[in-house]
Amino acid sequence: MKNQENNMNNHGNDVNNQGNDMNNQMNKINTEEKTTPRPWIFSLTTKELGLILKSKGKKAYRAKQIMEWIYEKFQINPEKMSNLSLDFRKEINEIIDFSLPKMIKQKISHDKSATKFAFSFLSDEPPVESVLMFNRKRKPTLCVSSQIGCALKCTFCSTAAMGFIRNLTAAEIIFQVWFMRKELERRNFNISHNIVFMGMGEPLLNKKEIAQAIDVFHDDSRFGISWRNMTISTAGLLDGIKWMAENYPQINLAVSLNSPVQQVRNEIMPTQASAPIKRVVDEIRNHAKITGRLPTIEYVLLKGVNTGRTQALSLAKILEDLDCRINLIPFNPTTNSKLQTPELEEQEFFLNLLKERGMKVTLRRSSGKDINAGCGQLATELSDN
Ligand code: SF4
Repeated sequence: MKNQENNMNNHGNDVNNQGNDMNNQMNKINTEEKTTPRPWIFSLTTKELGLILKSKGKKAYRAKQIMEWIYEKFQINPEKMSNLSLDFRKEINEIIDFSLPKMIKQKISHDKSATKFAFSFLSDEPPVESVLMFNRKRKPTLCVSSQIGCALKCTFCSTAAMGFIRNLTAAEIIFQVWFMRKELERRNFNISHNIVFMGMGEPLLNKKEIAQAIDVFHDDSRFGISWRNMTISTAGLLDGIKWMAENYPQINLAVSLNSPVQQVRNEIMPTQASAPIKRVVDEIRNHAKITGRLPTIEYVLLKGVNTGRTQALSLAKILEDLDCRINLIPFNPTTNSKLQTPELEEQEFFLNLLKERGMKVTLRRSSGKDINAGCGQLATELSDN
């Protein structure tokens, strides 16, 4: 119940200002006086909700009906849950907190390939950003945050400049996915999608809450998402990669490597300086061996820093006996960094050197650069609210 209580406190009297029906419903709910602690709906399993209802003298099977409204029909307002009695609809609002966090901002990129949402879970802390991305060839991707800020200090990343504020709870992570699924439905998209933990924060420093959230994502009675449609991206935490292999072998692993040269990696990822590159690659290899999954190596291309011939050849060398996919991501400019994006010629030079050595490599075009929703750009606009 600790999480439930925390979440209840996190979701007080916020008013969601999104201009659609759901939020009109929510305005009414969110402005109600809250006099007694109530667990937040996103922090509860169907079983837990049933137990709470039972303890209040209500029928436990109502829990399943409520969860169906929320997770299948995206109806969060109990007053609209038409298969519940009128009396019960009023009573349930006094037992459970159905409020939504305040949405600070929503931005759609010019090419409509990405929408960034910024939510405020607590009024005295920076917003949490989530990104909904569309790609003509693939399912939509929901990019979620796992922390507010980040303790790691990757120099190419805006979130790093925030410092670490706190871990998100499982319920706050679940909410992000629920909200973006609802958005997919609103835009008449098939609800099938991928989830990537590539938003704010290092997910493998918040394993407990991540584990709860991904179990819910996989649960057929709520999201029903295949493990293989989920990806956890890490800066290369050795114990975290091991934990993934042991506990969630079917979830995809992506590791942000960014240079095969220890000194360069230490400079651009200073908190990872204690992890020798060889050990990181060994742990990825071990993960691949245990899980049979193809890992992704992420490599942010930084002009004049990690894009030279020597680094391309060294990268190919250290990965030569690891079956993996390499994603080259041209640096997305951030307000806090002097780093620069390489010219296209420099990007393609690096790409071609890897291809010539038989690597599976793609040069990624980051979605949503114009709305600061690209890789490493989340939180660039904190002062722009
Ligand atoms: S890139 Fe990821 S791990 Fe590194 S500072 Fe940013 S959020 Fe943290």
